[in-house]
Parts: sequence; C-alpha cells; structure tokens
Amino acid sequence: MDFDNKGLRFSKRKRVAAVCVLAVLALACAGFGTALKRPLSVRRDTFAMGTLVRISVCGRNKAELEAAAAAAEAEISRLEELFSVHIASSEIARINADPEKEGGHTVSAETYGLLKLALKEAEETGGAFDPTIGAVVSLWGVGSERARVPDGAEIQSLLDKTGWAKVRLWQTSNAAKPSETIYRVSAGGGQKLDLGAIAKGCAADGAARVLRGHGVKSALINIGGDLTVLGKSPRGRDWRLGLQLPDGPHGEYFAVLAASDAVIITSGAYERYFERDGVRYHHIFDTKTGRPAKSDLVSVTIVMGRLEAEGNAARCDALATALFVMGFEKARAFLRAHPEVQAVLAAEGGEGLEVFITEGLKNRAELSKGTTLKADAGEKR
Ligand code: AMP
Ligand code: MG
Repeated sequence: MDFDNKGLRFSKRKRVAAVCVLAVLALACAGFGTALKRPLSVRRDTFAMGTLVRISVCGRNKAELEAAAAAAEAEISRLEELFSVHIASSEIARINADPEKEGGHTVSAETYGLLKLALKEAEETGGAFDPTIGAVVSLWGVGSERARVPDGAEIQSLLDKTGWAKVRLWQTSNAAKPSETIYRVSAGGGQKLDLGAIAKGCAADGAARVLRGHGVKSALINIGGDLTVLGKSPRGRDWRLGLQLPDGPHGEYFAVLAASDAVIITSGAYERYFERDGVRYHHIFDTKTGRPAKSDLVSVTIVMGRLEAEGNAARCDALATALFVMGFEKARAFLRAHPEVQAVLAAEGGEGLEVFITEGLKNRAELSKGTTLKADAGEKR
C-alpha cells in the first residue's frame, strides 16, 4: 500500500454475528468472477482463534489456489495451538501453568518472536497494551458463561500480578547441538500471559507469508473482521474494505477504505461484552485499573502497508487495542510520534459517529452518511 508518510469460547449469538460480519465483508471480494479476464477465486472459511476466519485467494490455477488457501488456514491453526490460552497444551498455557518455573520454559521461535514483539509494543504504548493482562482477563470472563463483575479486592490482588516488565526472554544454545538456538521465557512476578490482542495479527502475518510462498498475488485474509490484503483486488484495483459501525447491524459500515497490500485491524468495545444493571463491561482492559477501559473512543482501526515489514499485522493488532485503551488525546499523540502508523479513531458525536483520520488515509477513506470528520482531522501530522 502506498501511503504518503510512510481463544475463546463463543456464544451462539456471537457466532451468528461473526458469520454476518464475514458475509458482509465478502463484499470486498465482490470483484471475483466479474473481472475482465475472469480470474479464478477460491475461498475457505473456518473457525479459529475464537472467531471466523475467511481466506479468499485469486489467480489462474484452481488447484494451486486451493493448496495455498488450505496451507494458510493450516498455518493459522498451527499458530493458534502455540498461542491460545484456551488450549491447555499451547506454549502460552504451559507458561501460565508455572510462570516462574526455574530455568524458564523452552518455547518455539514463533512464540519467542511474538512475545518479543509483544514486550516491545507494551513498552512503546506505555503498557496500554500489556500481554501480562491474563489474570485480569480470566477474572472477568468476558465472552464466557462465567462472566461477572469482580469486587475491587479481587481485581487489586491480580493487578499486582500484571506488568510486562517482569517477563524475561533469553536464548541459549543446545550443548549437544551448538548450532541450535533454544528460546526461553519466564514471568518473574507470576504474571499470566494473554496474547489475545496480538495473536490474530500474528496469524494473519503467518497466513500472508504462506500465501506469498505459494505465489499468490491477490488475496484477502479476514480473521474476525481484521483484514490483511495481498496485492490488488481481482479487478486490479484497490480493495474496498468496510469498517464496522460500532453497535450497528453487522456489515453496516461507518467508512470504507481503499487499500492494496495492507493490514487493517480494528478494536472496539462493541466487539465482546456483557451487561449488568445497565452497565456494559467489555473485553479491553485498562491495565492500570484492571477494569474495562473507560475510553472515549468506540473503535480504533490501525492501517499499515503490509509489505513494509514482517510482523505488521501483529503490530497493528497490538496498537488497535492499545490506542483504544489510551483514548482520543493520547492516541493522537501516539500517532503524531509514529507517522508510519495510519489510523481511524471513532468516537460518539452529538449526531452519529465522529472520526479522526490520519493524513495518509485521508484520500483513501469514504465516510458513510451520518459519520462526520472531527474538526481537526487531516491536520498535518
Ligand atoms: P483485541 O480484540 O485485539 O482488541 O484484543 C482483545 C483481547 O486482548 C481481549 O479479549 C483480551 O484477551 C486481551 N486484552 C484485553 N485488554 C488488553 C490490554 N490492555 N492489553 C493486552 N491485551 C488485552
Ligand atoms: Mg488487538
């Protein structure tokens, strides 16, 4: 993309909602079959990483496209089995079972790499994104049948067990095989890891890598509404990608972005929550309070060119969560300091949604009726 400044259990309702999201986001692929040269398209849907995953690939050879999409899907499942806190045999679940294990835990290069990026993003965002939020996430149980509002003392006791700074990562070599690197992790303060805010992005990066390895030039990877597009759409144009209207019917967009070779990842309070006594408790936590973040934003979309670097989708994923926690002013300050990151910040306005759009996206965003630009949107960053 050519920007100018360069694990979970799901309720039935949630699954239905996710199906709707995918169904409507399929609009983005509407070019399949109608392009002049009629490229072939292959689509695979599955349920992974706690959500619906759709991989759409486009090219000339059906068998090759099918093999590529199947391999990308398998890669997502493979990564889920490493990272999910809900799979008891995953590497992250193993660490959580004994965070302070003497000598640390040996993990794969993939888990090590994602934890390394997660710690970097935690530092970069001042802890707004914190991969050691696991105990707090599990206490509230948002999105599960045991969701509840814990009392202050319970929260406080677990807050003492969060904090990314005490996670240690180090490498050693295998004495028997010196060329082999051994990756180790330990969480010094007994912290519980939760990579839910970054793992979907990492899986998208992995799937994109696999598709590229299979020679795929045009594809859309949709992991629960987080989108990665390879190349241009089958019509040879930018993909048109809808941003979900928070709390609107699934598939109703507040904006459409035109993009190619890009990652477009959204976090919002409307994605998963429960209600008690008229109060909404959502799934994105403020690591300072151990409670759902009181953000003045309703959704944050982070956009980056996919080809700039490996790991972009994972970074976008972490940042979408972090900027939501930060709220409007801090998120804007972050974006000013990180011009390589493009974003759409959406807040409730008097009459509909008000959005701030970074300079590099201004000419790529089409706002829907009822959505207004925040007055200072588009200022030079
Ligand atoms: P996302 O949908 O990418 O915003 O990620 C939300 C998920 O990340 C939640 O369901 C939790 O598992 C986890 N999470 C919640 N709050 C945070 C936070 N402040 N930092 C890191 N992970 C979080
Ligand atoms: Mg995220």
